[in-house]
Amino acid sequence: MYLALYRKYRPSTFQGVIGQEHITTSLKNQIKNDAISHAYLFCGTRGTGKTSVAKIFAKSINCENPVDGSPCGKCPTCIALNDASNLDIMEIDAASNNRVDEIRELREKVKYPPVNGKYKVYIIDEVHMLTDSAFNALLKTLEEPPKHVVFVLATTEVQKLPATILSRCLRFDFKLVGIEELENHVKSIFTQEKIAFEDSAVSLIARLGEGSVRDTLSIADMCVAYTNRNVTYDAVLNAVGSIDKTVLNNLASHILTGDVHNLLNELSVVIEKGKNIAQIAKDLANYFRDLAVVKTCENFNAILKYPDSFIKELEKVANSTTTDTILKALKTYSALDDEFRLTTNPRIVLEVASLNLCDEIKNYVGLEKRVEALENKKPQVMQVSAATQPEIVLANPTIQDDEKTLFGKLLVSLRARNEVMLISLLGENTDFRLDGNTLTLLSHSEQEFAVLNKATNISALNDAVKEINANVSVKVEYKKIVKELTTEELLRQKLGDDLNIKE
Ligand SMILES: [Zn+2]
Repeated sequence: MYLALYRKYRPSTFQGVIGQEHITTSLKNQIKNDAISHAYLFCGTRGTGKTSVAKIFAKSINCENPVDGSPCGKCPTCIALNDASNLDIMEIDAASNNRVDEIRELREKVKYPPVNGKYKVYIIDEVHMLTDSAFNALLKTLEEPPKHVVFVLATTEVQKLPATILSRCLRFDFKLVGIEELENHVKSIFTQEKIAFEDSAVSLIARLGEGSVRDTLSIADMCVAYTNRNVTYDAVLNAVGSIDKTVLNNLASHILTGDVHNLLNELSVVIEKGKNIAQIAKDLANYFRDLAVVKTCENFNAILKYPDSFIKELEKVANSTTTDTILKALKTYSALDDEFRLTTNPRIVLEVASLNLCDEIKNYVGLEKRVEALENKKPQVMQVSAATQPEIVLANPTIQDDEKTLFGKLLVSLRARNEVMLISLLGENTDFRLDGNTLTLLSHSEQEFAVLNKATNISALNDAVKEINANVSVKVEYKKIVKELTTEELLRQKLGDDLNIKE
């Protein structure tokens, strides 16, 4: 029977855990100093080793002769606990056992002492899936745990846990595993398995794993099966259904020149070949990220580890455009992931986003060219004295207020009307804009927007504004503010800290 690489190479000691030294070191110290807590909380993205570490920890606190904090694997307790049907290490999946009855039953069971070792360990996976009443039941056990019981709660969504649970647990945050650690891990496994590989192929697999050991090894598995144990760069691309690099180059150059017609044609060719839309967006995002690396990092060769021919192609494209433009494209395609989840027609989402991006790039390039042309003209500097300054002519003479004054007066008018709640809602989460005769209040908070947009509040706002300027009407819009990341932050988020940013 074929055993998935992820299962076959699951670590059995702390030393075998990849990329979480900050956690394994503290756990080993607790074991050496016999300072075990009753409740641990392991947080982090899927596939970063939470359950593996929990199992190693459960065995080492029971082991009769731990070796450097890890289970020896040889003593009678270790041997008993290696049997999956043992009663001392219980793994519970909260996603399927989330009801209060099940947690109550668990509360009954924890009373009984362990069969083999010193501790009974309950590992509760995806603990955020518990219902409120199940959390309350669990909390009662966490408040007065029997001496022989240790809980390890694991979650990918710690923000969903009640504060009462958080405050009872010793918390450890698992981080995404770095690309180099993943590469080394895959190489060592391929070598042990006698599988031939290209370095650039392993590097690509590690990047596709996005910080998760489990995902990386699943991709590795797929590539091994697909390539008949000779893992080349091109084979990995084919195995994961990524778009061919030449096609990506073409798509990117259409985007960067704002060539809508050819872009849509080429996209439809790719889509009709059966490529997954989300994968296309992901490939484009990765491609523009690579371009950004080439454009901004000195050591881009060491980071990207692509075949030379492809690096040359990337350099050519990168040199033909600006960092700003590359980042616009990168942000567009990275953001689509969320939108795909909400739509039944991903193709339209991809096409519309691409069209908007083309438009934006064309305008931007146009603007750059205009600025350049102006700079080249070097116009004579005009001396403007106060006396000769032209009078400012308003586009619409009925509106004498600019938007700032109007907004200020609106607040005063609201205060006169004792609309205290409205004034507080128009606090720092609100922008405003005056277009012709419409004053638009842009709320950045979804909840505040919902209140402001109630009919009674809209009419109160309009009554207040009519007192200042009878021609103006008020409307409210919701505008989500997305924090703009700098190039460096964006790249570090994706690639970790091995970047050397060009000055
Ligand atoms: Zn042992």
